[in-house]
This record gives sequence, C-alpha cells and structure tokens, in this order.
Amino acid sequence: MTPLQTPEFAFMGGRLIPWKDAVLHVSTEAINRGLNVYEGLKGYWRHDGAGFGVVAMRRHYDRLRRSAALLHIPCPVDFDTFRDSCRQLFRALLRRDRDMWLRATLYVVEGHWGEGTVADLVLTAYHQDPTPPKPIRVGVSTWRRSSDVSLPPRIKTSANYNVARLARIEGRPRGCSEMILLNQWDRVAEATGACLIMVRDGTVVTPPPSEGRLESITVQIVAALCQSLAIPYQERPIERTELLIADELALAGTLSELTPIEQLDHYRLPPQTPILNALSSRFWGAVRGVNPHPAIDLEPVDTHDLPGDVRPVIFPAP
Ligand code: PMP
Repeated sequence: MTPLQTPEFAFMGGRLIPWKDAVLHVSTEAINRGLNVYEGLKGYWRHDGAGFGVVAMRRHYDRLRRSAALLHIPCPVDFDTFRDSCRQLFRALLRRDRDMWLRATLYVVEGHWGEGTVADLVLTAYHQDPTPPKPIRVGVSTWRRSSDVSLPPRIKTSANYNVARLARIEGRPRGCSEMILLNQWDRVAEATGACLIMVRDGTVVTPPPSEGRLESITVQIVAALCQSLAIPYQERPIERTELLIADELALAGTLSELTPIEQLDHYRLPPQTPILNALSSRFWGAVRGVNPHPAIDLEPVDTHDLPGDVRPVIFPAP
C-alpha cells in the first residue's frame, strides 16, 4: 500500500495554509451529504527546459463549473483566480524530481438542502513518480455505475466514488488494482478512476459518455492523438465479451495517463501493444513539451527560485 502523502501546504479560504489546518466543520453539507465537486489535474516537468506545465487547466475548470452547476453549487472563483490558486500551491510544493497531481475541490461550506449554498475552493497536491505507468491487472466488477437519473456519472462528485471504492475492495483479493464497472445495460461504462480504451482490428474504441462514463479530458486527448496519427477512432457501446477478444486494452485518465492492461480477470491480453505504444509515445512527447500537440495545452507554472530549492550558501567576505 502506498502511504498517503501529507504535504506541507493546502489551499483553502483563498490562501495557502498548513496541511493540518485544512479542515471542515461536521455540520456542513460537504460532510453531511458528501456534497462537493472536484477535478484532478496533472502537472509535468517539461523536458525542453521550459519549466513545469499543467495539462488542460481551462478544460478542467470548465468541467468543474459544469459539475457544480448540475448540483446547484455556485462556483466561487473565475478562471483567473482558479489558475492563480493552483499556481500558488504548485509553487509551494514543487520538487525538481517529481511531477504533481492536484485535486481541486469545491466543498459546500454553507447552506442547507440547496438554499443559501456557498462553496469554497480547496486545493491539495501530491508528488508523483515521473515514470510512465506499468501494465496492470483489472477485473470486471459486480458493482454497477449509477445511471443518469440516479447519480449522473457526468458529475465529478465524491458520491460517485462510493461504488468505485466498493469495486476496488472487491478487486483487491483478485489481484486487481483497478476494476471495470458495467452500466445499467450490462455494457462497459468505465473503470473506477479512469476511462477504458479498447483496440480491435486497428481501431481505438471507447464508450460514449451516454454509456455512463465521465466526460473525460484524456479521452478527448486520445481522440485527437488518433486523428494526428491516422489511427481510426470510434465511440460506441462496448459489450463485456468484447473485452475478452480485444487486441489491446488500456485505462485513460489524467492520473492513469495511458495505463496498459495486461490481464483482465483470467484472460491475458496479447503482449504486443503497437497502437497503445504509438499513442503513449505521442502523449509523453507532448506532456514533456518536446513534441507539442494542440490537444495537450500546458499551463505554465513559474519555477524560478522554488521554495524547496537548495540555494548556494554565500559566505560573507572576511
Ligand atoms: N472516469 C472517472 C470515474 C474518473 O475519476 C476519471 C479521472 N478524472 C476519468 C474517468 C478520466 O477523466 P479525465 O481524463 O478527465 O481525467
């Protein structure tokens, strides 16, 4: 088990605060009803010497606003404030040898049953191993993605992750680090924290959001990479048995990046993954800034004189 990181700072109430002070009152709807919406953003050190870049910040902000609107949570920040707040936390925690994942959450801190709702933007960020993800084993869960009329998967809210948690608990004794959730029609929705990408006969296939997956930014990126690499791309429903005859399978998500799946329950996938390899190397070239792609915009974070940098000791002249 990877221990949870406890970074030095969080961002709450419009400013950087010590990690231990980032607390919410038990009476808030954030606690009582688990009422929040959130985003996970990934920042990478560029390999072209241009510092640190955060992928698709504007698209994450827009999705945060859409999730908030669907739950009648007023968004307390405009994009510029959101960007400045993220930059402040990245700058406070950045280390030269680690990429970072930042969680941006709107917690409902005032109001009751949808009246007088007030949210606060809370940011936490964690160091990440800069190496691409290794192949993993996944299973198909007996738990199910909720439907658009129960708890819409389109809304990125913590409540949607209770079923995801159950699925991961189910998968752990089976040696699975991720699980695939089917939808109410017994077709593939997504994994617990990422979308699913399948390759069949040279075409990259993923279910559309109407099959119960998040409107994923990484899937948008994959579609654009496919287009530039002349790889056919299709959004259509996927049945469970198709997973067992897939040529290649992978997870796609901000944190998962493109994670190859080597085994699905008892089925071992073919070891060669030519299409995933092509997509992955294009993806990594773009996030590292050495082979830019228009679908992977990198929001810069100022990395001059980082607080954690070792500065040369200057001795006063004798
Ligand atoms: N589905 C779920 C349930 C997720 O938590 C995520 C991660 N945000 C994704 C899909 C992938 O979305 P994105 O590519 O925007 O990170």
